[in-house]
Amino acid sequence: MNTDASTTPRALATEAVHAGREDLAALGLHAVPLDLSTTYPSYDSRGEAARIDEFAATGARPQGPPVYSRLDNPTTARFEDALARLEGAGSAVAFASGMAALTAVLLVRASAGLRHVVAVRPLYGCSDHLLNAGLLGTEVTWVDPAGIEDAIRSDTGLVIVETPANPTLAEIDVRAVARSCGAVPLLVDNTFATPVLQRPLEDGARLVLHSATKYLGGHGDVLGGVVACDEELARALRQVRFATGGVLHPLAGYLLLRGLSTLPVRMRAASASAAELARRLSVDPRVARVHYPKLGGAMVAFEVYGDPHAVIGGVRLITPAVSLGSVDSLIQHPASISHRIVAEGDRRSSGVSDRLLRMSVGLEDVEDLWRDLCEALSAAGAAAAVRQPVSVPAPARERGADVRLSHPAAR
Ligand code: PLP
Repeated sequence: MNTDASTTPRALATEAVHAGREDLAALGLHAVPLDLSTTYPSYDSRGEAARIDEFAATGARPQGPPVYSRLDNPTTARFEDALARLEGAGSAVAFASGMAALTAVLLVRASAGLRHVVAVRPLYGCSDHLLNAGLLGTEVTWVDPAGIEDAIRSDTGLVIVETPANPTLAEIDVRAVARSCGAVPLLVDNTFATPVLQRPLEDGARLVLHSATKYLGGHGDVLGGVVACDEELARALRQVRFATGGVLHPLAGYLLLRGLSTLPVRMRAASASAAELARRLSVDPRVARVHYPKLGGAMVAFEVYGDPHAVIGGVRLITPAVSLGSVDSLIQHPASISHRIVAEGDRRSSGVSDRLLRMSVGLEDVEDLWRDLCEALSAAGAAAAVRQPVSVPAPARERGADVRLSHPAAR
């Protein structure tokens, strides 16, 4: 497939629609072909042996049919090419989920003898758990961004940050963090911002990770993950993916490529609604604090004075569910669901208060969303009468979360 970008630079919205599809017209096609093959016939076993040897030695994508679908898939490869272009990366490697993608990165570094990871909380709950429990034989040191440089050791293989972070939406200065990483690769989880709002590789990150399940897919019907990086790291990731088997299903690759084509418009529309909801929540007496990134985006987090569980029980239009990035709005209570697996003390010290709710704003009309939120807040008995100051742990403030107190009395 010809994946060369045009010599004239194209806008992200144009790339989102055309990247990974440049060869279609010459093939006499308009829609992307979906290749569901698990195996690929060949009468030339010597030739196949050479292709397998080549992959084992280099990790480069096989030329021609991929021998076996755990090595590569042409539909998924189109998604990978497109995402790499959107992130400004040399390559991208797709996985069965965001967690499979993170696992592969950790295994690549650990297999080079670099088992130590430096990470900044909060991270998505399961990413935190994977590191903290040492499930892959890695060891983690948790630090604030200012502590990264001092935490790096001779066996540090990776620095991991999320920005905006799940679930507090705390932001990190990627350029500054990249400088303090020195030669150690920096991985930025860009799930919340997407390349529409932020391209961490331009700021010095070496790897960008997405839970593609979220905004890249955009419709709540695909589980996937992807890492955008240089070709050298991509080769190592493909070898780990082949050996461990965390491949993306080709139908998921097809849906993710389709999702990318509307990513810029979805992100812009949902972000406009999220900014408006954040503004309204920030002056609502039932709300103690609103977290909304300076960068913008379609996620809003807020702390209520009343019972957060009752807000979850009170929504009717907004779906009370974990995950995010779909066309429809979702709300969840991180301390109960997305970050339940993180120990209570670690949760709290990274700013994940028990009163925090995390909302993924979709494409519904903002007035309908506001009405639903308002009714849920009222039903929760989140009355101003029970207003009490909510303590915000220092790290959330230090990390630059846009923390706005909602009501003069609460300031
Ligand atoms: N990274 C972030 C920021 C997430 O929110 C999630 C899931 O919610 C993941 C990674 C893991 O992705 P997946 O659920 O696709 O495995």
